Amino acid sequence: MLALSKKKLNDFLTALKRAEPQRQIIVPVEERGATKYFYFPSALPLFFGHLPYYSAKKFFLPPRESLFRFRMEKGKYSATEETVQCNQLIFGIRHCDVQALKILDKFFADEPTDSYWDRRKNTPLIALNCVNPAPACFCDGMGTRHSKGADVELTDAGEYWTVEPKTRKGKKIVSEAAAALHEVKKPKPLEEKPCEVTATKRKADSVTEKEAFWKEISDGCLNCTACNIVCPTCTCFDVEDETDLQGNEGSRYRVWTSCTLDDYSRVAGNYVFRKEEHAKSLIRVQHKLNWFKQKFGEHSCTGCGRCSLHCPTKVATADVARKWLQ
Ligand code: SF4
Ligand code: SF4
Repeated sequence: MLALSKKKLNDFLTALKRAEPQRQIIVPVEERGATKYFYFPSALPLFFGHLPYYSAKKFFLPPRESLFRFRMEKGKYSATEETVQCNQLIFGIRHCDVQALKILDKFFADEPTDSYWDRRKNTPLIALNCVNPAPACFCDGMGTRHSKGADVELTDAGEYWTVEPKTRKGKKIVSEAAAALHEVKKPKPLEEKPCEVTATKRKADSVTEKEAFWKEISDGCLNCTACNIVCPTCTCFDVEDETDLQGNEGSRYRVWTSCTLDDYSRVAGNYVFRKEEHAKSLIRVQHKLNWFKQKFGEHSCTGCGRCSLHCPTKVATADVARKWLQ
């Protein structure tokens, strides 16, 4: 079996960069105690200790992106669609975040596809297994710990990772950096620690719809939107037009938004149809744990735990799951 010595990681990534200099290589790094995906090479140290605080979603679905430009000429508007040039690769993505991309696919890869899909199909994924789940993770219970879908799978065996290409794209990537790899005969993968949180999707359908429960949750919610921003599966967006002062030309942007905001449910006539805080909390959590599955056949929560990690008052979806699905 092929293996990548951790000491040769830099050689491996450099070989991938040399093979296609235009390709952007995204890796987990540490900055001021927080981990995130960032571009290689950088001054920031690589970090594989646990799941990055921020998911890789923004490399597929940027927080704000222009969809098309428009222009008025001789009294008529014309529009020019933005084109996406994408050549990137993610090294060290966790399997739960691969699962998150599969959930985003259900939403954005349907016809008509858009810039999300242009990026997704041009981004090979090299996934890394998780041996140390963070305290808020419950990927075991949500069944995402070993989700398939990556082009190459790495398994931690201490001083090296075993390297298994899973797709044609994955085989090509591995061949590009073959000089940095070696053969191992009987790899001994490190033991994977189980998640401390034992919430399980088996009980997700039974999350209560009782008003009193959601009032308790919403009493703690500050509507800060942190849970939505860090969630790898949140798909909701708003649309904003930005024009010049005369309104003759401009761009239409897709911008991440949050179901915890009043603006989210503001419709024509300035009417907000979901004003009650407990109704916002119910939709925020139930969409993840229950309703998405009813429509698409899978839960839209991967159990990554990020929302709980970032929620200042601990009333995020992962906190409800911890309380309700144990
Ligand atoms: S709802 Fe929370 S635990 Fe579930 S995928 Fe989103 S951030 Fe992760
Ligand atoms: S659940 Fe927590 S993180 Fe999300 S909006 Fe409410 S207070 Fe903020």
